[in-house]
Amino acid sequence: MMSDRRDTKGKSFHHSELFASIPPTCLPIVYHPNYNITFMGLEKLHPFDSGKWGKVIHFLKEEQFVSDENLVEAREASDEDLLVVHTKRYLNRLKWSVVVASITEIPPLMLLPNSLVKRRVLRPLRTQTGGTIMAGKLAIERGWAINVGGGFHHCSSDKGGGFCAYADITLAIRFLFDRVEGVSTATIIDLDAHQGNGHERDFLDDRRVFIMDVYNHNIYPGDGFAKRAIKRKVELEWGTEDSEYLQKVELHCEGALNELRPDVIVYNAGTDILDGDPLGGLSISPQGIIRRDELVFRAARRRGIPILMVTSGGYQKKTARIIADSILNLHLQGLIGADGSGSGPSAE
Ligand SMILES: [Zn+2]
Repeated sequence: MMSDRRDTKGKSFHHSELFASIPPTCLPIVYHPNYNITFMGLEKLHPFDSGKWGKVIHFLKEEQFVSDENLVEAREASDEDLLVVHTKRYLNRLKWSVVVASITEIPPLMLLPNSLVKRRVLRPLRTQTGGTIMAGKLAIERGWAINVGGGFHHCSSDKGGGFCAYADITLAIRFLFDRVEGVSTATIIDLDAHQGNGHERDFLDDRRVFIMDVYNHNIYPGDGFAKRAIKRKVELEWGTEDSEYLQKVELHCEGALNELRPDVIVYNAGTDILDGDPLGGLSISPQGIIRRDELVFRAARRRGIPILMVTSGGYQKKTARIIADSILNLHLQGLIGADGSGSGPSAE
């Protein structure tokens, strides 16, 4: 049953399953098998490993970092949850298969009944969106959290695109601002190869949100209007390699966090910067990605700022292994751990 409640900030808000409490025995790593999109071979038509999320978990289990017992199971975002950011008009448009086909860039979807599209495509994306919102709360409680999916940074409140149907980053931040005492500012560090025009449009004139975006400026979306929201904009050229990339990420990450100390960091850790990515157009090595994630977590942890990581774009066959290796490296470096402090290697 939905009922109005009052949060700690005294405002009325709907009851959301996404803010239910999580047992302390769980690691703040959020996932659900429903994240993965597979049906009738349609997923093979997309330049896209649509099962990458499950593979990341598979590798993390192999290394015995996570288990079914200590993972946090994501819940699907409800309409009411989505309406915290999205317009009714936008959610209604998703009831047309042709609209979903265009947003996800899977043209054959337009031929399918919407009930099927809803079950096999929108539900995975809604579950990942729920995962990001849940991870936001966990990041505040534990100092860090990772949603193994999410990072739909091209979607804004009333427009989807570039495979992004729900604005999970905007939603996670809005949930925290509305419902968590002491959280009133956020920094988005968007290191996916593409410009994050969705959250940029949503927070265009919102001084509570500081956006840093590092992207290849020659590719999609080239959203000049949204760029006005970026406080630290780093535009990369085709084929940018590790040393230049990492130098820029470190410089601007430190600079952004020195300029404004936020209550929370949302880190959009897209891996489509990887050399050979058909969409990203950059030439970063697997080691470069692992080093990048470490730089960002180090910058956050050194300042004691809670960090929420989402995995965003990057769908080559080898991507899942790199994401898993990066998470294992964060653990090895003592930047994430079971004790939640993140200040040193966890006691196990
Ligand atoms: Zn991307």
